[in-house]
Parts: sequence; C-alpha cells; structure tokens
Amino acid sequence: MAITSPDAFENLWVASVDRDELDALVYRSNLLASDRAIVNFGGGNTSVKSREVDHTGREASILWVKGSGTDLATIDAAGFTGLRLDEILPLTGRTEMSDEEMVAYLGRCQVDPSMPRASIETLLHAFVPHAHVDHTHPDSIGAIVGTADGERLAQECFGPDAVWIPYIRPGFALSKLVAEAVAAHPEAKMVLLAKHGLVTWGDTAEEAYAATLDAINRAAAFVAERAAGKEPFGGNRAPALTSSWRRFSQRFAVSCPWMGHGSFRSTRRRRCSSSHAATIRPSSLRSVRRVRIISCTRDVGRSGSPSTPPQKTRRC
Ligand SMILES: [Zn+2]
Repeated sequence: MAITSPDAFENLWVASVDRDELDALVYRSNLLASDRAIVNFGGGNTSVKSREVDHTGREASILWVKGSGTDLATIDAAGFTGLRLDEILPLTGRTEMSDEEMVAYLGRCQVDPSMPRASIETLLHAFVPHAHVDHTHPDSIGAIVGTADGERLAQECFGPDAVWIPYIRPGFALSKLVAEAVAAHPEAKMVLLAKHGLVTWGDTAEEAYAATLDAINRAAAFVAERAAGKEPFGGNRAPALTSSWRRFSQRFAVSCPWMGHGSFRSTRRRRCSSSHAATIRPSSLRSVRRVRIISCTRDVGRSGSPSTPPQKTRRC
C-alpha cells in the first residue's frame, strides 16, 4: 500500500466479547501485520499488561509481549511471553544495563521458562505505563523519522501529540528514554523514534490499534501533501543509461563478474582467469567509439561514469 494514499489504513477491528486480554493481543497483532506497510516481516512488537493468577494461586501483574523470532502476522498465544511486571519495573532505577544482562534478567522474570525469549524491546513495553502498547515500523512513519529533518517534520505533522526521541539503538537506554518522555508528556499520543519507528498505546486493545492507525494515517496524509508534484528523493541526479549503455554494462558484467555493477568506478587490482574470454563487442555500440581490450592482470582505472562512456577498458 502506498504511503501517499491518505486514510489508506482502514480500521478493521471487529468487536467480540469472547476475547480475553491475550486473545485480544493476538487479534490486534495479526490485524496490524495483515498490512506489511504497517508491520514489516518479523518486525514490531505488541504487548498487554494484565492481572492474572499465577501457579501459586496469587494474583500478579503479567506483561505479555511478543517473543523473539515470531512474526506478528501469524503469531498466536504461544508466541507471546509472560513476564512478572513487578520484577521488571525495579530496573527503571538502574542507569545502564547491557543487552546480555537484560536478556538474562528477563529470562528469570518469565512465568514459564519454556516460553519464547522476550523481544529485545521488551523493556520499552514494560516501562510505558499504559496497558496496551504497540511498537511498529510503518512505512509512512518511516518517511518522516527516517529523514535528516525528521524532528521538524514530526513537529509539523503531529504537533504536541508526538514526542521525539533522537536515534539510539534498541535496548535498555532507549526504553528508559521512552518511559521518561511519556511521563513528561502525558498529553502525548505517540512516541516517534528517530530512524526507527512508532510507539502508541491505549487503555484497551481496540484503542491501541486505533491509535496506531491514526498515527500512520496522519503521517501518510502529511507525506502525500508534502510530496505532491515532487519527484521521489529529489529526482534523478544523473541521466538514465541509454539502452546501448545498458546492454554494454550487462555484457561487461557477464565477462567480468568480479566487477559487478558500477564497475567503471573500481580501481581494485584483480588477477583473473584467462577463461574470462571477452564477449564484448564494443563496435556494436554507437555510444562507445573505441574500446581497447587488453589481456589480463591489470589495474582497471577510473574511466568515467556510466553516463560517460570510457575511452578504454581492459578485459579481466
Ligand atoms: Zn523497533
């Protein structure tokens, strides 16, 4: 689905009285990932915090979060991991934690050791206080957060509804930053992670789903408006190859596979087998006036851009 189609992401939620919290989490996850412009394969993670009775008969707060190695489009209840939230939240008092420490710690918080290992972004879900949290990498959000001027564009698109987090790789530090941002901006409806993605939430599974759709639809409409009448990525920076140049490049790549595409920029020294018999017939190319073919083991020097035919090249 194109990110330039405003209101392209329709709310497909169908209410049901039969879903418990985990069932609703599965349903929401599958629904979000039914469109790969919202959830990329294997990417994103969703969660719910619920009160449940554990194996001792005591009530506990459980964080259900996507397990590692699963895909939200096909995930079922067994793909989620249950973690004791009361054992995770004290981590907010730490200043740092390595990925290895975090994985080991979360493994001890699982309500059942046989459950899948929790996602590397689990602490983000745990530290955000809302009951239902979605973290996704939608295309339309990426069109904003992935730009050099993403923070300004995010401000123009979402105003105070979004909190901006500068790029930091996923892990403990990012989770703490997100939690602090949400606490400092209770009016916010989402967190935007620079060069990464989106965090949304809701008091119910349906509200969280709607919040995610609302964010990506607003971003899609914003991008469509700003991109109207413009060439993607500013248009071509160099003229397209002529058909004769394209044929020449293809045949050259067959003869000299080690050079690959853009071969005329290579200055690497290679020793090649004489079996690489030249199949180039440059005389058939109108755009190449003269190509001198010399046998083997030579430097292949810079000899022009693809739009400027080389005066000579050498067979490998
Ligand atoms: Zn992510």
